[in-house]
Amino acid sequence: MEKFKSYRCSVCGKTYEPHEVTYTCPADGGNLDIILDYQGINKEYSPEKITASGDQSHWRYLPLLPVDDPGLQGTPLRSVGWTPAYQPKALADELKLEQLWVKDDGRNPTASFKDRASSVVIARAREIGAEVVVTASSGNAGAALAGMAAAAKQDTVIFVPKAAPQAKVAQLLVFGARVFLVDGVYDDAVKLSMLAAEEFGWYSRNTGYNPFTVEGKKTAGFEIWEQVIYRGNLKKPLTVFVPVGDGNIVSGIHKGFKDLKELGWLDQMPRIFGVQPEGSASVANAFFAGTEEIKPVAAKTIADSVSVDMPNDGLRALRAATQTGGRYITVADDHILKAIARLGLEGIFAEPAAASAYTGLENAVEQGFIEPGDPVLVMLTGSGLKDVKAAISAVKAAPIVKPTLEAFKKVL
Ligand SMILES: *Cc1c(COP(=O)(O)O)cnc(C)c1O
Ligand SMILES: [Zn+2]
Repeated sequence: MEKFKSYRCSVCGKTYEPHEVTYTCPADGGNLDIILDYQGINKEYSPEKITASGDQSHWRYLPLLPVDDPGLQGTPLRSVGWTPAYQPKALADELKLEQLWVKDDGRNPTASFKDRASSVVIARAREIGAEVVVTASSGNAGAALAGMAAAAKQDTVIFVPKAAPQAKVAQLLVFGARVFLVDGVYDDAVKLSMLAAEEFGWYSRNTGYNPFTVEGKKTAGFEIWEQVIYRGNLKKPLTVFVPVGDGNIVSGIHKGFKDLKELGWLDQMPRIFGVQPEGSASVANAFFAGTEEIKPVAAKTIADSVSVDMPNDGLRALRAATQTGGRYITVADDHILKAIARLGLEGIFAEPAAASAYTGLENAVEQGFIEPGDPVLVMLTGSGLKDVKAAISAVKAAPIVKPTLEAFKKVL
């Protein structure tokens, strides 16, 4: 893999050769960034060449990924990404914004953003000859891994909290993963999966811990660049709203922008706003305290995908905001439910974690952090079909009616 030059620790800055490590920094456990051969890439590729690709998936950015072509044409793994960036005018008007995009990653093969990471981790697993890939998940990362692994005929073991929404558990089982429902929260599932990976020599996809998850997730940053920045006519730098749990999505989008900047293909770094529920706000708390020290919380929120006590990618998630002139926003659960209903009126169905990013924008506008002329993109990370119970609680129940016109007229 020539374009994959080295790893660099996000804590101590030490670099490692690709063959030297698999997961985190041996010195301090810090998460590793993957450094590409930017000069080499620039010799062969240009924005014109990349954006001329006919590939309607995130594999259009294969030259910027640290994996070889995984093959598997004609499978769901090849249709990850390149999700639509809508411009809902009614929402823009309501928020008094001139330019607003809503990028719907619920449109991925397993209906969440996590397909980006899982497809690239599966590509990596095939390269290194891993027999079993294991992950802990609040649901979506597991569903994505299980789906991508099914497409690649790869064995997987998945640990989810036993309270995970049923739709997510159904996906895991239907995709044929070996599923274990952990009697505990997501953080317990992470601990158990690490012990199991170590004991049985399985390849771990765990978020943040595996350096390839960020590399998969960065493709959303590339798409935002191509769909909105490169092709659009932005009057001011873009601001991107991202929901944060472990902090790997926001770190991934930031990494995508950093790669493009390194290549000289992006002039102005977008501002990144991380959004967390008030009840699961470990990274936001550090941001407000002005420190890089992230302390665990006892997470409690309706947005299960971002319900995390101690984030596995907290430091990089914090820096995604601090290094781009962005910030953190916290949101209340009842506002998340309102956002599900509001997005629904535009024909967009979001799960609670995804909707949290939208209400984060509403909140930021209200607090004066966003001006009318600021172009904004909200990253919606998962489909509303993932958590039907939450969706039902966000809207008024439909009336039941006897099957006669007379009865219908009465309830109408
Ligand atoms: C995983 C997930 C998130 C949060 O991503 P992190 O990397 O954990 O911060 C947000 N929304 C959805 C739908 C997710 O599945
Ligand atoms: Zn280190």
